[in-house]
Amino acid sequence: MTTQTLSEKKEAIQLLMKYAVPADQMPEALKLLDHFQDDPIAANLLHAFYSYLPEGLDDNVRSIRTLARRQGSFLLGAITTRAAYLYLVTVDKAEFLGNTSTGIWEKEVLNFFELGDRETHLKQLEDLTKFPEHRPALQDEKTCPACAVGDGEKHVLGCPVEVCPWCGGQLTSCHCRFEKLDRDHILGERELKAFEEKLAAKGRIPYDSAQHRPAYPSAGEATGPASTN
Ligand SMILES: [Zn+2]
Ligand SMILES: [Zn+2]
Repeated sequence: MTTQTLSEKKEAIQLLMKYAVPADQMPEALKLLDHFQDDPIAANLLHAFYSYLPEGLDDNVRSIRTLARRQGSFLLGAITTRAAYLYLVTVDKAEFLGNTSTGIWEKEVLNFFELGDRETHLKQLEDLTKFPEHRPALQDEKTCPACAVGDGEKHVLGCPVEVCPWCGGQLTSCHCRFEKLDRDHILGERELKAFEEKLAAKGRIPYDSAQHRPAYPSAGEATGPASTN
C-alpha cells in the first residue's frame, strides 16, 4: 500500500470529481476542495465520497459539518446537492456510515462519541446546518496538526508531535523506548505494547495548543504588552 501525500490525494479527488460532479456544480465543488486543501480529514472524506457516490448518481459535497470529535476521530456530516451523509474520519481514513435519514447503526460509533442510542441521535440529524462547519485541521489551533486530536487530548500513538514524558524530546524519535525496555534496537509488537503500558503508567503528555502552536499576534493586536485588567 502506498501513502499518498495531500497534494496527490487532491489530484485524485479532482479526477474522481470529473465523473461525479454535475457541470453546473463544478465551480462550487472545486472551491470547497480548495478550502480544505491542507486538511487530511476533509480530504479523506471527499476522497471516500467521490470514490463511492452513496446513491450512485451525480452529486457533490456542498458543506462539511463537525457533528462530534474525539481522540482524533471525527464524526462528519457531508451535505450534498442530493442528501446528507455521515462519515467517520481520521487522518488515515474515512469510513462511510450512511444517510442522515437512517442514522448510525454502529453501536461502537454511538458509544465512542457518547451519542445515546440510534433513535435519540437520529433526531439530532434532521438539520445538519445547526452543527458547526468543519474547520481545516491546520487552520484550527486547537487541533494537533499531525494526528488531529483536540486540545488536552492524548495524541494518537506514533504522532510526531507527542512529547516524551521522560526526556522531553520527540517521543517518536527519542531513545527512551529502548532504555525503558532494556533493548538496543528494533522493537516487536509485544515490546511496543509493553512500552505503551509504561508510557501510560508514566503519564502521557497531551496535545497543548498553547505550547505547540505559538501564537503570532496579528498586526492589529501587536501594539504593546497585554493589559491584565
Ligand atoms: Zn498529535
Ligand atoms: Zn524520551
